[in-house]
Amino acid sequence: MKINIIGAGLGGLTFGALAARDGHEVHIFDKNRKPGGVVALLEHEGYKFEQGPLLIGDMLPGELIYDLLDELGIHLDTVRADRDIIMPDYDMITPKEYGGPYWRRDRLKELFPEDADGIDAYYRFYDDVMHLRYIATQKPGLLQKARLALAFMKIKSYAGMNADELTRHFFKSEKICTLFTGIFADFCADPSEAEGLGVVFTNFETAFDKRIPLERKGKKYYPGYCYVKGGCQKIPEALADYITSHGGEIHYGRIVEKVLVENGEARGIRLADGSEIASDMVVGCGAGKDFFEDMVGREFLDDEYREIIDTFRPMEAVFMLHLGVNYDPMEYLRAALVYCYGMYDLHSATVKLRSGEYHEGNDGYLIFVPSDHAPEFAPEGKHCVTIYTVAPDTLKDGDWESKKQEYAEKLIKLAERQLPNLSEHIETMKIMTARDYSEYTHMKKSSFGGVVPIRGQKNPPHKTPVKNLWFVGQQSENAGGLGAVIGGAKSAYEKAFPKKK
Ligand SMILES: Cc1cc2nc3c(=O)[nH]c(=O)nc-3n(C[C@H](O)[C@H](O)[C@H](O)COP(=O)(O)OP(=O)(O)OC[C@H]3O[C@@H](n4cnc5c(N)ncnc54)[C@H](O)[C@@H]3O)c2cc1C
Repeated sequence: MKINIIGAGLGGLTFGALAARDGHEVHIFDKNRKPGGVVALLEHEGYKFEQGPLLIGDMLPGELIYDLLDELGIHLDTVRADRDIIMPDYDMITPKEYGGPYWRRDRLKELFPEDADGIDAYYRFYDDVMHLRYIATQKPGLLQKARLALAFMKIKSYAGMNADELTRHFFKSEKICTLFTGIFADFCADPSEAEGLGVVFTNFETAFDKRIPLERKGKKYYPGYCYVKGGCQKIPEALADYITSHGGEIHYGRIVEKVLVENGEARGIRLADGSEIASDMVVGCGAGKDFFEDMVGREFLDDEYREIIDTFRPMEAVFMLHLGVNYDPMEYLRAALVYCYGMYDLHSATVKLRSGEYHEGNDGYLIFVPSDHAPEFAPEGKHCVTIYTVAPDTLKDGDWESKKQEYAEKLIKLAERQLPNLSEHIETMKIMTARDYSEYTHMKKSSFGGVVPIRGQKNPPHKTPVKNLWFVGQQSENAGGLGAVIGGAKSAYEKAFPKKK
């Protein structure tokens, strides 16, 4: 079958690699000159930076991305990674001396003795959810089903709670609640809108100290996070090589303008230069709204799909600074990735973000030092530092181009709390605003992750109402992330080409 795929991001590449493996004729079209979409490295004045994902889950043996790449014969070097969190008036910085798998529990109890019982109860609940998760990863069968049902009984009473209710159930202090739910505000969801169990799934303890073993009783039990040696770009490069070595073609520098639909069936694509390329299947990726309204046409959707497109809410954008510096920032940091929160009121932060009000870094920002695990990203003796915040796609007051320098200076000033005298050590700076991202990803509205993880929210399903038209990529997934994008594209492929029994 001939398949035209729009976008060489990880959604399109995953679908394309599986199709090429099975002997289909794959053609991928991307406006950019290299594969990976936001996963491609950014090169600037002798430095390299990640413009997209930093810390990756699902990339260790036995996990989704690793297993998929392994199946295709792709093996990449990774290093385990973790992150620290700094709250407005306390911190959760990994101790120098290894404090065991529950070091955060113990530190929280020291900081908030009045919450000690609740903290213990949360960590018992955490263990129960991790056990349930472990069983869910085991070989399906009757025994597994029975064990799943038993494990679920233990946490059943929490299953209906939202993230706000769940954290308030365990903790009296708002300061602890925010520690566990801050990440939802980064995704632009108020914790009261997010799934309660999501609290555990966004706070795996193994993400907060890379020394915590992932095994229990000799078996892989916990998920882990890592960096890809040489940068995340190694993943799309390897998939692109796989596709071309299996007869597929990736056409760079080509913008797709239209999906050609005839009698309710996708029949090919039209490029911006007017040329039409016929195919038996079309796979789209990118912004759900732009894709279905401008490239496919609302008239070809059914009422249910139209309603999803009209009501689904992608995350907002990011404001990112990439700095080449002439000192070693790791002299001041314990982990190469640090989340710094500036407030406890996540509700107001989310309302502001949605209304276009930029917090200028005051609600929180993140510091990442890629040259810590990839020294080759910076010239000898220098380092790369990335500082970024979530930010509205469109500013209520002013525009990104005229504000970006001022916002960059403010963010650097804030980051100096962690990296003293940073501004004196900057040799080069590349600013990425929402507009740069929308230009790069070909989306009218920039959105850094997937769909906002709101309970009950429906995403545009992979299978569309147009025959032989499939939709993959971050805007088909709740909460995004590489695992979701790659897993989603794999599941779309398996639905499009079910294995004969
Ligand atoms: C700043 C940032 C930080 C992130 N951090 C993490 C993280 O730490 N961990 C994690 O797991 N995930 C993270 N993510 C999310 C993850 O990187 C994305 O969800 C994922 O890479 C998206 O893949 P995609 O294929 O859907 O889209 P994209 O990467 O956007 O790729 C889509 C590609 O399609 C092309 N395209 C679209 N429409 C057309 C068209 N009409 N014609 C031609 N080409 C077209 C675009 O140009 C682009 O190259 C982060 C993302 C960002 C931006």
